Amino acid sequence: MTASAIDTFDVETARRETPGCDNVVHFNNAGASLMPTPVLDSTIAHLKLEARIGGYEAAAEATETIEAVYTAAARLLGCAAGEIAVVDSATRAWDMAFYSIPFRSGDRILTSEAEYGSNFIAYLQLAARHDLEVEVVPNDESGQISVPRLCDLIDERVRLISLTHVPTNCGLVNPAVEVGKIAREAGVLYLLDACQSAGQMPLDVAEIGCDLLSLTGRKYLRGPRGTGLLYVRHDLLDELSPPMLDLHAATWIARDEYRMRPDARRFESWEYNYAAKIGLGTAIDYALGWGLDSIRGRVYALADQLRSRLAELPGVTLRDVGAERCGIVAFTVDGVAPAEVKERLAARGINVSVSRAPSTRVDMENRGIDELVRASVHYYNTEQEIESLCDALVSV
Ligand SMILES: *Cc1c(COP(=O)(O)O)cnc(C)c1O
Repeated sequence: MTASAIDTFDVETARRETPGCDNVVHFNNAGASLMPTPVLDSTIAHLKLEARIGGYEAAAEATETIEAVYTAAARLLGCAAGEIAVVDSATRAWDMAFYSIPFRSGDRILTSEAEYGSNFIAYLQLAARHDLEVEVVPNDESGQISVPRLCDLIDERVRLISLTHVPTNCGLVNPAVEVGKIAREAGVLYLLDACQSAGQMPLDVAEIGCDLLSLTGRKYLRGPRGTGLLYVRHDLLDELSPPMLDLHAATWIARDEYRMRPDARRFESWEYNYAAKIGLGTAIDYALGWGLDSIRGRVYALADQLRSRLAELPGVTLRDVGAERCGIVAFTVDGVAPAEVKERLAARGINVSVSRAPSTRVDMENRGIDELVRASVHYYNTEQEIESLCDALVSV
């Protein structure tokens, strides 16, 4: 299966439509992927239109294209277009969801060891403000969130299960569907940070059973920077109170009265980058065109290949955990700091990144890791590029 997932994918087309492939060996897809030509074209075309006829006038011309961003997102996640808000990052999407939950004193939040730093900072802020308890559900032996332990921790005070699907610092894929079953049985809100999983694997909110989901445009979806999405289950809209509103999210209907929009766009702001939003829509259509199943097949197969090659290199320690592992490959090199590895690879035209403890402090501390190298593969990467990375590491 591994070999066929690599062989059947039309990587030539993928690379031809990715101008950056001519310049760099890009293994920083978990940071920001190389944009494909159609994304670049639609984004630039709108900027040019703004310059030519005016920003408001360009927006009016692009009304249908903008609406199509919501239908594309709805197709990506298996939800309704009215359940989507488009914002400027995954963090902003996640924050709009999290800070809209009407917490009461004594509520408990259950989260995972792999939790993203920004999310955890928000837990700490609201925990102090509302007297909440934040509990980290331990991992099982494989390194994913322990579903039985999560089950044991459920009681009537649990208000939210908040899970990072794929962490920023390694290839772990947390069992989002199993967690969703527990959340639904317990009738507890379930917020999924799908920032790293979106664009590299299929995501269906009905199957996952989450109430809220956030993702970013620039990572595996290959969209422009400054774009993010929030999914909000429709039945939940009136239970949540957006932490801020403006005259797009709500209408000022009388001097002392406003009415919120009836859909998830109440979590958006009036002003945004139209060109980037259009580019995001193109990126989603582009990913759907390849098919998220085929993307996952190739990404997982390439990542497996990279892991087995790295395992053969003396002085390299793999740092991925979990029963299911995706396109993010984490490792350290004996006696060479991750920043040094990154720099030396960059000198050979190979992009990787460094992940440090404050991004995923609970996980890094529990595993005694301060920082690591992250090489994240996408479907447009090749086996030859993996060889180049490993050859370069040998000389590092
Ligand atoms: C990158 C990342 C985020 C933040 O995404 P932004 O678009 O930069 O806000 C959130 N969660 C995880 C797991 C991430 O890797």
